[in-house]
Amino acid sequence: MDELTSKVHLIRRFGPVVSVKFPSFEETGLVRHLFSTRRGGVSSGNRAAMNLGFGRGDNAETVYENFRRISFISGIYPGDMVFSDQVHGDRIMEVGPMERGQGLIRPRKMSGVDALVTNRREVCLTTFHADCPAVFLLDPIKKAIGLAHSGWRGTVLEISRHTAEKMGELYGSRPEDILAGISPSIGPCCFEVGEDVSGVFEALFSEHLDEVVLPSPKEGKSQVNLWKAITYSLLDAGLKPENITVTDLCTKCQEEYFYSHRRMGNDRGTMAAFLELI
Ligand SMILES: [Zn+2]
Repeated sequence: MDELTSKVHLIRRFGPVVSVKFPSFEETGLVRHLFSTRRGGVSSGNRAAMNLGFGRGDNAETVYENFRRISFISGIYPGDMVFSDQVHGDRIMEVGPMERGQGLIRPRKMSGVDALVTNRREVCLTTFHADCPAVFLLDPIKKAIGLAHSGWRGTVLEISRHTAEKMGELYGSRPEDILAGISPSIGPCCFEVGEDVSGVFEALFSEHLDEVVLPSPKEGKSQVNLWKAITYSLLDAGLKPENITVTDLCTKCQEEYFYSHRRMGNDRGTMAAFLELI
């Protein structure tokens, strides 16, 4: 088994559980956070092993056990987790103590929410992923956080920029103070799209076309770099380049460590992103 390595992430191993973190977030001492891998859980088959998605064919007790393991290695209490309800849209919801546990230990009341923000401690923002980037945001000055699910649709809706702006509206966050991290997700190496999708990126990121939309060897196809697109979106919001950590891990390439919708289709597990203020 190849070891997972990264130039930009901390790769944490705790027994069999492997998780991915951002050094810039860890250094603040203000948050608990991680992006899960597929290693160290109890799911089997194509969902092996750390499937965090209910409704992917695993029995619920298996998924609960996986969450218990994530809780054990991270110190995040399951009752503090608040699940998003992702629809590839751009709706952002502020959550607080009232929403704690929604999705995991209590029914979820929200619907159609792809990004969450809070400035309350021990409210763990939780989003779900299997190629789509998670965008982590932390304002260490105002002590506020945001977490966005940014697949290609969310990226062209600029959900990351809007989430940073929401933190400004609600908490007075200044963009130049906000730290950002783009999680492991499908890389420019593997995100092949047709002209319908590349055209949307070409229109929105016309100033950075050579970095966002790359040629493909296949006729009528292009390779989109979501990591660059999200980065430019965050720079437009006023974030500083040195405060943005862009992943170097492609979920489709690293099949021993990540589920990938592109590689596996619907017969797969789901990873999750977790972020809470301590
Ligand atoms: Zn790749």
